[in-house]
Amino acid sequence: MLITQLKSKETIASLVDGKKVFIINCHGCKEVHFPEKEADELQKEMMAAGNVTGIMTRDYICNPENTKLRLQKYMDKIEAADVVLVFSCGVGVQTLAEILEDKIVCAACDTYHLPGGQGVTPLEYDCQQCGECYLNLTGGICPLTACSKSLVNGQCGGSKNGKCEVDSNMECGWERIYRRLAQIGRLDIMKCPVQVRNYATDDEVSK
Ligand code: SF4
Ligand code: SF4
Repeated sequence: MLITQLKSKETIASLVDGKKVFIINCHGCKEVHFPEKEADELQKEMMAAGNVTGIMTRDYICNPENTKLRLQKYMDKIEAADVVLVFSCGVGVQTLAEILEDKIVCAACDTYHLPGGQGVTPLEYDCQQCGECYLNLTGGICPLTACSKSLVNGQCGGSKNGKCEVDSNMECGWERIYRRLAQIGRLDIMKCPVQVRNYATDDEVSK
């Protein structure tokens, strides 16, 4: 099971500052938790500011085939946006980043683990529900699951011909992240200071 919580208002504002935004909400996994009221209030404020090109609200956006079909009628509004801001768990954000590969896709929420099962979750877009989502720094590819060592500050240096030194059957997650950031014109993120991981967040929510 998982729950999602909004990132701070300041963090979300920094993601969309001065940009046109298309918003996607996932209302799947309702049996768990989605901060619907807070997200709704925030989105109303963003719409009042006039920088929202459109909103799509659906369930189970982690189902890529379904989501591709649902996105079709919004493509002009997505094209008009600089950023696609996603209110969902980490799996949903990764699914959209893969589908909208030329767009900047940002996570508005952090995802936390709770014991128990959950809904539709394609394995290829895995999320460890770590409580401090890094997808905004990694082009929508999860460093915890795409890298064998779950490194959050870049490559270990051991990859060979694009393959991971721990498992030669898998692509190096950080080479994927580099390519993705280059594709969306955000290699500048690689120059950010080291991100110190806050392992306490998960414990706080579990209490
Ligand atoms: S960084 Fe990865 S594990 Fe953590 S919430 Fe985001 S997608 Fe999930
Ligand atoms: S080679 Fe790449 S994927 Fe493998 S552990 Fe190093 S950084 Fe992570």
